[in-house]
Amino acid sequence: MTFNKLGLKPEILSVLERKGYDKPTPIQAQAIPAVLKGRDVLGGAQTGTGKTAAFALPVLHRLSESEKRVRHPRSLVITPTRELADQVCTSFRSYGGNLNLNTVKIFGGVKINPQISTLKNGADIVVATPGRLLDHINQKTINLNNVEVLVLDEADRMLDMGFINDIKKILKKLPESRQNLLFSATYSKDIRGLAETVLNNPISVEV
Ligand code: AMP
Repeated sequence: MTFNKLGLKPEILSVLERKGYDKPTPIQAQAIPAVLKGRDVLGGAQTGTGKTAAFALPVLHRLSESEKRVRHPRSLVITPTRELADQVCTSFRSYGGNLNLNTVKIFGGVKINPQISTLKNGADIVVATPGRLLDHINQKTINLNNVEVLVLDEADRMLDMGFINDIKKILKKLPESRQNLLFSATYSKDIRGLAETVLNNPISVEV
């Protein structure tokens, strides 16, 4: 299996080549074609399996296929911690280095005003932690009406950290018609419940 066979565009493949990724990891080989088809995905994967690229690469591909300069986020990635938000944001920027898409990170523990200015300048992809994202929603400093793809990364950790109500409030602000990707290292009853609420006819991928 090579990345070329997965259907990713040359602008993305050249970045992977430069990084020395010669073949997709198992989670990437399964998830990338499903996401490119527009399917919802339930992904079982730990950190270190290449799960970030498993969603970032096809999301970047899809958004770049239909360049709508709406200025409001077209993909929303929710992560449990600021460290993960930071890493995921860096990955999107790096994998999308040849594309005309802007990734912004939004997390708590830092001043909100610079984030408001950044959002005003336009963001195609927003990587956020739940609490600070809700602050922006409540202050109407983020507009989620154009979100086409939602990613819940490390969903089990988000539930462990007590973010379920925040996530439910965020979900209410998203357009009903959208693609949903949920990644979790473990499957509890609560994760299954969340997956049932969020995902429509998902393809399950597991490593
Ligand atoms: P993740 O599981 O997303 O945290 O990724 C773990 C590490 O694997 C990161 O440092 C990635 O840069 C790297 N990585 C992801 N996909 C590949 C790949 N297909 N080939 C080589 N390295 C990869």
